[in-house]
Amino acid sequence: MGHIHAAPDPVSRVLPLEHAGGRDRRWAMALEAVRARKATCILESPDSIEVAGTTIPGRRDTARALYILYRPDIPHVSIAALLSDPARREQFRDKVVFVGLTAQTAARDRLMTPLGEMMSGVEIHAQAYETLMSGHFLQPATDVALLFICAIVTLAAGATFAFLNGLRAYAVAALLVLLASAIPHIAFAWGIIVPYLTPVFAAWFSVAAAASWQHFVVRRQLHKSESDRARYQEAIHFVTHEMRSPLTAIQGSSELMGRYNLNEDKRRQMAQMINAESKRLARMIQTFLDMERLTDGDIEIRSEPVPISDLVLSCLERARPLAERKQIELRAGPLQALSVNGDRELMEYAVYNLLTNAVKYSPPETFVTASVQQNGGGIQVSVQDQGIGLDAKELKSIFKKIYRTRKAEASGEVGTGIGLSIVQQIVEHHHGHVVVTSEPGKGSCFTIVLPEDGVARG
Ligand code: ADP
Repeated sequence: MGHIHAAPDPVSRVLPLEHAGGRDRRWAMALEAVRARKATCILESPDSIEVAGTTIPGRRDTARALYILYRPDIPHVSIAALLSDPARREQFRDKVVFVGLTAQTAARDRLMTPLGEMMSGVEIHAQAYETLMSGHFLQPATDVALLFICAIVTLAAGATFAFLNGLRAYAVAALLVLLASAIPHIAFAWGIIVPYLTPVFAAWFSVAAAASWQHFVVRRQLHKSESDRARYQEAIHFVTHEMRSPLTAIQGSSELMGRYNLNEDKRRQMAQMINAESKRLARMIQTFLDMERLTDGDIEIRSEPVPISDLVLSCLERARPLAERKQIELRAGPLQALSVNGDRELMEYAVYNLLTNAVKYSPPETFVTASVQQNGGGIQVSVQDQGIGLDAKELKSIFKKIYRTRKAEASGEVGTGIGLSIVQQIVEHHHGHVVVTSEPGKGSCFTIVLPEDGVARG
């Protein structure tokens, strides 16, 4: 006696070999047929059962589900055909025969199978019998194996888009999806059941994720390099344009000196002008090169104790002639005797730049104050002016390369718009930052905030 319960499976792929109901526990009819055929008994363990030396996989907690390997060639003879042709009995000699009666009209008496046809329970058990007798059993892949397959597929998708680009990457990705679809078939040939959608979904999702990652990263890189190039071109354009005025002055003066017989005073004046303009030209080139080298991280940055108030005083002295020309008074505010670790030359460049900006963008008869103070947040070097000031929108852009405000352009002051971007980079190399407070028409205050034990980054 055996049970004929079906598993809750739409195509009856599996058959529970064991069924317990109430106090009764039965083996499946197919298994009982095997046992009867082999005239032996069934040995059971938690993970499998054994009949006549053949181990049949199937855990108890899955009711020892057996995957049936359906065969289309199991002979099927109706009683009517047997009655009309008794000679067909010979067909059954030495065979195990499953005899059954089925209600042709009752739909629930027949189940769908992977062969694509409806079968009665007795036929399904005949198929299970063949599977049990063949000794080849299908086993579902373990969770660990499925995880491993998904991880491999995901890694392959990631590597495809990390190392390949464009059409080639998409071709390899398509191949990967195809391969992932083939995994269940290959595994099936090895007797392992891999759910079709697991590797296929893993492939589709990982390919989609990797492709979009590449798409956005590449787009961002492209965008960055394009804007870098545009900025660089703008810088070149600006610098060459700016170089033109000193060059014209040099050209004109030298021509005059060569062509006309000038008196000594005039000659000296012209020579002085050529000298000043060529120095200006050299400064411009130097600034431009400094900017490029700082951006590339190419410049060597020293780390030594720098007495910051002395440095501010010397910058004030250097900027004094410029300020006097505009009748601007340079004042020293509180100058605490403090020192920071850093590169003196670069720090001087930064402070001098803030001072000359303050002078450039202030009207005559105002004053500019520089101070050095220490408070909780670090060492603060401030340059305060009473100049044209900046509005909130301008404040956001002044540290960009080649940026000048309209008011600055209109002021007639010469500038390259790159000084502040260098200042910011220098300060950042010293682990500091620049704070700006400003009000249009009232003035600005640029403050370099440096950490108290700041060590310059090399
Ligand atoms: P520039 O060579 O034009 O002075 P900077 O990079 O030093 O270049 O400054 C960028 C812009 O920031 C200036 O063109 C100007 O518009 C604005 N700016 C800088 N310092 C001041 C200041 N003290 N007052 C008002 N505007 C300023």
